[in-house]
Amino acid sequence: MINPAYFESLGNETLEFLSKAEKLKKEKNAVVLAHFYEPIEIQLAADFVGDSLELARRCKDLECEKIVFCGVSFMAETAKLLCPEKCVFIPAPDAGCLMADMIDENHILRLREEHPHASVVCYINSTARTKAVSDICCTSANAVKVASAVEGDEIIFVPDRNLGRFVAEQVPQKKFFFHPGYCPIHDNLKLEKVLEAKAEHPGAPVLTHPECQPEICALSDFVGSTSQILRFVAESEDREFIICTEDGVIERMRMLHPEKTFFNPDRETLFCEGMKKITPEMLIDTLENGVGEVFLDEGLRERALRPIERMLEIK
Ligand code: SF4
Repeated sequence: MINPAYFESLGNETLEFLSKAEKLKKEKNAVVLAHFYEPIEIQLAADFVGDSLELARRCKDLECEKIVFCGVSFMAETAKLLCPEKCVFIPAPDAGCLMADMIDENHILRLREEHPHASVVCYINSTARTKAVSDICCTSANAVKVASAVEGDEIIFVPDRNLGRFVAEQVPQKKFFFHPGYCPIHDNLKLEKVLEAKAEHPGAPVLTHPECQPEICALSDFVGSTSQILRFVAESEDREFIICTEDGVIERMRMLHPEKTFFNPDRETLFCEGMKKITPEMLIDTLENGVGEVFLDEGLRERALRPIERMLEIK
């Protein structure tokens, strides 16, 4: 629950934006979904804020005409894959994911030729074309479960090598082959920065996203998806935390837990430009004028949907 003092601290401009967005959502029968990495005012305007898995699950159950997805383009694509009957919009259509752009279907087809008995587990941070040639999707919240459940003893894990290695450690009974992709935001976080933060705040547990490098995961007190890190903070009796993931999550923690203190070991690095593209003006423009509708070829949609549905069947 968001503390009332936080709302009182917002400027008039933000409050006006939030009230205009609220009115437009009702008028247009639209639901706004936002990822935890979005700017905080966009998160506040959203009907639901979550990580990739939560947002994918939520899309399926929405009763509305329009979905406005505030995230990067592969997320809006995923919403369209799951809800073809709805109009899906992204207020900044050029908001891309650097990791999703590191792989395409040809990389996967080559990996399949090299390892013909392996199943392709594709991180949801990928384009529809990449998903379409994969066997099953996963998110950082369910990747271990998916890799354990998938048929066979061999897995081609794409595109994030760091998440892949983290999962491989938890599923030692299977053999993994990795694509060399990575999220530059998490991968560029240097061990020295985390060690400096630990030295400055020796009592604070280190909570890390598995897209970070293995040596950072190894020294962390907890490694998990964004929603799992948020839950850890909510349930913990600690008062201080070092958070190794994108800055939007830390902003959210400050809003939800004003009594706790959060340290970002390297704010310049842990900042995803793609996730920060959507501005309040863009969101209003989309709600008002339908800017940024997502369209997908039906054949591609059907092929890319299958690995997502397989993932969602895993409880
Ligand atoms: S934080 Fe990394 S994985 Fe997430 S959208 Fe940005 S570039 Fe992509």
